[in-house]
Amino acid sequence: MGRLLVLVVLVVLAVWLIRRALRAPTERIDGPGKTEDLVRCAHCGVLLPRAEARDAAGALYCTEEHARLGPGPR
Ligand SMILES: [Zn+2]
Repeated sequence: MGRLLVLVVLVVLAVWLIRRALRAPTERIDGPGKTEDLVRCAHCGVLLPRAEARDAAGALYCTEEHARLGPGPR
């Protein structure tokens, strides 16, 4: 019974990952002036949409945790 549950979870996870991969033309930067409001996390430097960024002390971060940690070594 437990094995079946694990199988179901794995299948659901696989379907989710495939669907996610299919609709992922996310990071398309078509030259200067046409960026889709991507901002860089001040802690780890990852690019993310402005709408998803956390604002803290005048800097932008990818997650609540990085906002708490503050600017990184980079
Ligand atoms: Zn970050």
